[in-house]
Parts: sequence; structure tokens; C-alpha cells
Amino acid sequence: APVYPIADVVGAHETVDCAAGRVRYVNGDYAASAPALTAVAGEIAQALPQYASVHRGAGHLSQLTTARYENARAVVAGFVRARADDHVIFTRNTTDGINLLARAVPGDTVVLDVEHHANLLPWQRSGADTKAKPELDRKCRVVTCRPTVAETLEALAAELHRAPAALLAVTGASNVTGEVLPLAKLADIAHDAGARILVDAAQLAPHRAITVAGHGIDYLVFSGHKLYAPFGCGVLVGRGDWLDAAEPYLAGGGATADVPPTDPSTDDAVEVAWRSGPARHEGGTPNVLGAIAIAAACVAIDDLGFERIGVHEHLLRTRLDGALDAIDGVRRLSIWSDSRDRVGIAAFTVAGHSPRAVAEHLNDAHGIGVRDGRFCAHPLLHHLGHPEGAVRVSFGVGTGSDDIDRLTAALADLVART
Ligand code: PMP
Repeated sequence: APVYPIADVVGAHETVDCAAGRVRYVNGDYAASAPALTAVAGEIAQALPQYASVHRGAGHLSQLTTARYENARAVVAGFVRARADDHVIFTRNTTDGINLLARAVPGDTVVLDVEHHANLLPWQRSGADTKAKPELDRKCRVVTCRPTVAETLEALAAELHRAPAALLAVTGASNVTGEVLPLAKLADIAHDAGARILVDAAQLAPHRAITVAGHGIDYLVFSGHKLYAPFGCGVLVGRGDWLDAAEPYLAGGGATADVPPTDPSTDDAVEVAWRSGPARHEGGTPNVLGAIAIAAACVAIDDLGFERIGVHEHLLRTRLDGALDAIDGVRRLSIWSDSRDRVGIAAFTVAGHSPRAVAEHLNDAHGIGVRDGRFCAHPLLHHLGHPEGAVRVSFGVGTGSDDIDRLTAALADLVART
């Protein structure tokens, strides 16, 4: 039976010329950036003619824009079921949110070797800061994944107990294999060892309900552009104490409560009174439209409901896996043999064809866009035994079974011709 898209997204009717003639373009790269929901594009179009700078003035438009911006914060907090006193900080994207948090963590961070670079390099860099400022004393400790999730959780627990750590920073869903980790269990493991947990939800937030308070997640980050909103805005949600104690992420207007005049007779730094709360780390004029768009996406996704999203995705994934497994020489990649859940992502290799050749064939011969390469997760591709990379197809609410069928038929065609 056919499976239809469950929401309207921009670009759904895009057509391209390819060897097969003019065809509807299949977007198989939602995990890199998902197309905006048309409902989100509509909200942006409505907000666009009517804005002024936030937090700056008594003027009508400034007040209106400030109200919309602060409302967006509240909507995001509700979407992820945050605690009442959590900070919701608007960032540029997931990478930005993790870099921000990395400045605030007072100790070691433990990560897995399968993380996206965004959840690895900021920790390694903040560890390197220790050399310049020994008082910071923080390292990044990397744990190698075991063949099962269960054994991997044990290895994480052992590492957290071996030496004190401030944070466990872990992905909610792998950006390469789509495999989902058990968040509540991970939070318990971190807390039992006296650490906190950050979940990189860049790939999880569009696909699964997240309950920050219920799962015991201390910090959560995600990006608007993977959550059916456009580019340039992301979110960091979490506990305020470390964030309020940290140096402001961006020094500048908005981050300060009071700046005294400089004293020309001394080189001493002036005593600036930095704000606490989200403003401390949101120096400069924020991406108001980006925040409004994320909030609109949260509302639209909640309206659709994660139950419906989950069923739709399950149907498409089963169809995709079945068809891929039936093609000679196609091998799907996974990190764990016992992972129970996966979002709408599949990575695979095709024997005798480089990942780039497969991706080019799909685009040039069939008008199907997928991603190939190492997906900003080089250690993971090493871990999987594919340092040369793989092909990744990813989908979401705007995908239907004809997209999946076209992709798998095109792959079967490629294999049959060789
Ligand atoms: N983490 C994961 C799991 C991701 O998939 C991505 C994006 N590929 C990121 C972090 C980084 O997101 P952004 O590029 O929006 O900062």
C-alpha cells in the first residue's frame, strides 16, 4: 500500500532534468537540512513585514517583536517539556549551542566515538584550553562503542565512575545510522556517577518526542534547519547555574546590565555587570525570524503529533530496509546489533561503487538527492570499518513511499547494470 507524506513542505514539487527526462526531484537528504514546513514558511511571511529590534524600545513594533521572540522561547520550552527554571538560549545551530556549553562545563566531558564532530571537537578544544589555563582543568574522554547498546552503556558507566566527570555528552540519534539511544537510561548513568548529561538532539528532535524534565536531560541542543524551519537558528535548553557562572559567549550589547565608563589612567579591565539568563549568552541583535520559525515548527509538529510521525516513519523505514536488503551488494550500516529504534536515516555501501559514484548516479540518472561521504563523523566511519565513507538517505514528514520506491529501484538498476 502506498504511504503518503503527512505534511506539506517547501520544494515538494521541484522538478529536475536527468537522464530519465524531467522528473520530480526526490529529496533524500532531510538529515542534512529538512525542507521547511509550508506552515512555517507562512509564519515567517506573516512576521516579516512587521518587525523591529527586540528588547530595545518602547515602540509598538519593538514591543510586538520582543513579545514574539520571548513567546518563541516559551514554545520551545514546552515542545521539549523543559523544567520551569531551565534557560532557553537561541543559538545559530547545534554546533553553536555545544560550543557555548563547552565554555561553561566545570570539568571533564565523556563522549562516545560515534559522535558528529559538533559533539566532539568543542569538547576536545575546551580540553585543550586547560593547557593555557590550568585552573580550568577539563579534558575530553572518548569511550569506544561496543557491539551492543547494553555493553556501550556499561562502558560509559565504567568510564564515568573511573574518574570524576562533569558531563556526559551524547547524541540522541546518530546522524549516520539513525540509531536512537535510550536517553532516560543514559541520564541515570550520568547522574549515578555525579555527572550531568547533554543530548545532541539535532537528529532526534524532528522525529521523537523529547521530555527534558521527564528523561532527566540536563542540556539539550538542536537546530531549526533540521526541524523543518530554515537556517540560522538553533536552541540550547538546560540548567541555568553553569550557564550563569560562565563567561558570556558573545560579549556585546544585550549581554550586559551595566558598563561603567573607561578610566584612561589604568589598563585594568572595566567591571562589567553581565546579565544572567539567556541574555548573558545572546549578545547582539538575535535572529528573531529564526526563533519565530523554530517556534512555528514546534507548534506544527505538535499538531501533527509524534505518534503519527512515528508510524509514518516506521512504514517508510520498513519499506526502505526491505528493498535495500534485497539488492545484491548493498549493505546497511549500524553501530549496535541490539538498537531498537531508528529515525528516518539509512547509511549503506554498494559493492563495486564508491559512495560518490552512487550519489552521482542517483542524482544524474534519476533526480534523487542523497548524501555521500563521511557525514562530519569521521571517527564513526572508522569505527564502522568504512573510512572511505558511505551513502546516506534520510527522510521525514514530506516523504512518501514513491520517493523510497524510486530510490531503491534506481539502486537496483545501478547494481543490475554492473
Ligand atoms: N549533531 C548531529 C547529530 C548532526 O546531525 C548535526 C548536523 N549534521 C550537527 C550536530 C550539527 O548541526 P548544525 O550543522 O546545525 O550545527
